[in-house]
Amino acid sequence: MIILLGPVGAGKSAQAKIIEKRFGYKWLSTGELLRSSKDPIIHEKLKTGKLFDDEDIEKIVDEAITGMNKDQKIVFDGFPRRVTQAKWLDDKLSNWSRKLDAVVHIVVGEEEANRRMKLRGRADDSEEAIKKRHEEYQQNVMPVVEHYKNEGMLSEVDGVGTVEEVSGRIEEALREHGVHPN
Ligand code: AMP
Repeated sequence: MIILLGPVGAGKSAQAKIIEKRFGYKWLSTGELLRSSKDPIIHEKLKTGKLFDDEDIEKIVDEAITGMNKDQKIVFDGFPRRVTQAKWLDDKLSNWSRKLDAVVHIVVGEEEANRRMKLRGRADDSEEAIKKRHEEYQQNVMPVVEHYKNEGMLSEVDGVGTVEEVSGRIEEALREHGVHPN
């Protein structure tokens, strides 16, 4: 498994899809799973930019992975977003007979991230929601970055540049963790 961490607008989804194509890891985005829900309450909550409860997220991750072939490798996009989720994942790995290959932190400043968000224009991208997601990133995701740094799993990658430039840097980082293209 690969984990991609980074602020909103860092290009995590674009990079995860490239990893899916080049490395054969299946893209798993908790945000995308939530957006595809038919439950109107979930859609209302998405508009706030606040993080969902761990139990709700862990349930959808568990279901997604349980439904996959055991050999299917996964690239997580937007998960884990709290240290509690990271610890849950650490515990779950052996149940699923899977291991963590690498964690890549895509580093982008808030200004650049905001500039990109404006280009994207997703339904849950109101200015208020974006601000909230930045707060959640500082408060909750940065401790996740620290968690994986302490475990020796983390690579930091400069997220400023074209999609191709950034994907080149990510590939280099993945190679250092022994992950190679198909
Ligand atoms: P994303 O598409 O990754 O930006 O996620 C969109 C929204 O879904 C986030 O702003 C959160 O409200 C929610 N979300 C996605 N992943 C998680 C997670 N791992 N924990 C809590 N909330 C999440």
